[in-house]
Amino acid sequence: MKCKKCGKEAVVKLRHYNLALCEDHFYEFIEGRVEKAIKKFKMFSKKDRILIAVSGGKDSMTLWYILKKLGYNVDGLFIKLGSEKEVMPALEKVEKLAKELQAKLMIEDATQYLFGLSTFEAAKILRRPTCSFCGMVKRYLMNKVAYEKGYDVLVTGHNLDDEASVLLGNIFHWQGEYIIRSYPVLEKTHEKLVKKAKPLVLNYESDIKLYAKMRGIDFLESACPFALGATSKVYKKLLDTLEKDQPGIKLQFYTNFLKLKEDLFKVEETRKELVLNSCEICGYPTTGKICSFCRSVENLKSRLEKLKVNPQQKA
Ligand code: AMP
Ligand code: ZN
Ligand code: ZN
Repeated sequence: MKCKKCGKEAVVKLRHYNLALCEDHFYEFIEGRVEKAIKKFKMFSKKDRILIAVSGGKDSMTLWYILKKLGYNVDGLFIKLGSEKEVMPALEKVEKLAKELQAKLMIEDATQYLFGLSTFEAAKILRRPTCSFCGMVKRYLMNKVAYEKGYDVLVTGHNLDDEASVLLGNIFHWQGEYIIRSYPVLEKTHEKLVKKAKPLVLNYESDIKLYAKMRGIDFLESACPFALGATSKVYKKLLDTLEKDQPGIKLQFYTNFLKLKEDLFKVEETRKELVLNSCEICGYPTTGKICSFCRSVENLKSRLEKLKVNPQQKA
C-alpha cells in the first residue's frame, strides 16, 4: 500500500476517504482539514485571541496542538468540575501539554460557584441528569472566562462524530429549533456571549485518536472526572454501524446537511432570530429572565439550607 501523495509506503488507510497515506502526509491531511474548517466556516484568523477549552481528552488536546502548530494565538482553559483528587488525572495531562506547547493555561474552579460541591454532587441534589447539568455549567463558565478575559473566540474539541450524532438525535426527535441552529460556528449575538467555533467538525473521531497517538500526545481515555460515559452514545453507535457498511456516510450526512441548510435558509438570519436577554442576576445571556446557571445556584442554595435544617433528609 503506497501513500497517495508521495508513493512512499503508507502507514494509514482511511476507509472513509478511500485514502492511504504515509506518516507525514497523514499529519498534513488532518491539519489541512482543521484549516479547511476554520476558513470555510469563517471561524477566526491569526489576528484573533483564541481560547480553547481543554478537558484532557484526545479531541481538545489534539486541537490545541494543531492550532498552535498552524500558528494561531491560542490559550487554554481547564474547568475543575470536582475535587482536586477527581480532576487531577486530567489536569496533569493538560498542564503537561501546556508546557510542551509553551502555551498559557487558565484554570477555573466550578466548585467555588456550587458551594464547594462537584457538578456530580450538585446535580444529585438538584435531581438533574448529571451530564446535562455538568454541560450547562461548563458552557456557562467557558463563556464567562472568555468574555472576562477579552478573547475573540472560544473553541471546543467537538469532532465530526459528536456533531453528526447530535444532529441524528435531533432529527429523530424532530427538534426543529436545534436542527436549524446547529452550525460549527455560533456568532456573538449578545454583548456577553463570545463567538464559538468547533474546528474539528470535518475530522473523524478515529482519525483524531490516531493522530494523537502517532504524535505522542498524552491524553486521558475518558476525560470525565466522574467516569460517566457520553450520553448520546446510542446515535454514535448507529452511525458507526452505518459507516462500516458505507464508509464516508458520517461525513456526508453532516456536510450535506450544512450545504442543504445554507441553500434553504440564510444562515445569518436563522442565527439572529433567537432573542437573548441579559440574566437579571449575572448579566450573561439567557432566553428567559434568569439564566439556568443562576437558577441552579439559587436552587442549590435553598436545597442545601433545607438539608442543614433537616440533616437526616437524603439528597
Ligand atoms: P464533552 O462535552 O465532554 O464531550 O466535551 C466537549 C468539549 O468541551 C471538549 O472537547 C472540550 O473542548 C470541552 N471540555 C469538556 N470538559 C472540559 C473541562 N473540564 N475543561 C475545559 N474544557 C472542557
Ligand atoms: Zn506521503
Ligand atoms: Zn445568570
